[in-house]
Amino acid sequence: MARVVVTGGSGFVGSHVCEALLERGDEVICVDNLVTGNADNIAHLIGHDGFDFIRHDVSHQLWVKGPVDRVMHLASPASPVDFERIPIEILDVGSIGTRNCLELAEAKGARFFLASTSEVYGDPLVHPQPETYWGNVNPNGPRSMYDEAKRFAEALTFAWHRARGVDVRVVRIFNTYGPRMRPEDGRVVSNFITQALQGQPLTVYGDGSQTRSFCYVDDQVRGHLALLDGEHTGPINIGNDGEFTMLELAEVVIKVTNSASEITFAPLPADDPTRRRPDLTEANAKLSWKPTVSLEEGVARTAAWFQSVLGL
Ligand code: NAD
Ligand code: UDP
Repeated sequence: MARVVVTGGSGFVGSHVCEALLERGDEVICVDNLVTGNADNIAHLIGHDGFDFIRHDVSHQLWVKGPVDRVMHLASPASPVDFERIPIEILDVGSIGTRNCLELAEAKGARFFLASTSEVYGDPLVHPQPETYWGNVNPNGPRSMYDEAKRFAEALTFAWHRARGVDVRVVRIFNTYGPRMRPEDGRVVSNFITQALQGQPLTVYGDGSQTRSFCYVDDQVRGHLALLDGEHTGPINIGNDGEFTMLELAEVVIKVTNSASEITFAPLPADDPTRRRPDLTEANAKLSWKPTVSLEEGVARTAAWFQSVLGL
């Protein structure tokens, strides 16, 4: 049993991480300022013996009483709509916030876990993306606050590892979806599913030929725990290597939700990566991890959740 600090624990992925840790008997201290999180995501955990919630901005000094075995740093807005709305906060939490979490881990002798992203590869020139690829990132474009903050966070993490001896783990998360995504977060899966359920046209940006690889959240979290518990520092890709164009995704969502919605086209945002797919060789070899949930199955589960919470 470990005592684990989870920053960003009331967000989409973080709330599933908290749940998985509690389920196996770990104690969880969730630290979140709710900037993009939702208290509803952890409402069912409040009152659980092993669960504590601290409302705090980790870009300000972070302290937790008592022993800590693991610090999992997932706090960061992650949606393109947030890139426009709160770019400075994103840079802060990736840089100052990551430093604060590393300092906490060092002071407590805890293992530090960073939620990095496939965005460190930018608009990749190598396909699929292995961890050894250094990426193709616009350093000052409209996604730069997120991409560069995460790249800096990785650099900070490995500097703390090398110079201060902190035990670290770094996961590069590829597009992940599932229950508890914010309906209004602007990401493609939440947009398409809510549009399909409401009979509105699905908004495909550009000509829809750009690709992504979508990982169901349960698979993603299983990968996090394997990395957290194991001896491999990473960085390691965790995602699903099934690759789909946005037009293909729209068709899957329409089919699975049995929707009468049509497809409409809207302009492609600047610097939108043209393709993305994880090379999972390392995850298979080092963590014996593989995704198991197909896109159709994951979309069905996510649509059922949206239907129940939105009353659609
Ligand atoms: P999310 O917005 O649902 O969760 C982020 C959480 O962090 C929210 O609860 C938010 O309130 C909290 N937070 C943000 N800034 C904070 C701060 N300064 N102090 C305290 N709490 C703060 O997003 P998510 O999709 O669950 O992403 C979780 C993590 O995974 C992020 O680090 C993100 O970069 C990473 N990630 C996610 C994806 C994905 O597809 N979902 C892909 C790549 C990386
Ligand atoms: N996208 C889309 N319609 C939408 C929202 C997004 O076609 O309503 C596209 C977007 O341009 C991108 C892909 O879907 O090419 C994935 O977008 P998302 O924001 O989910 O993730 P990211 O771009 O960060 O991988």
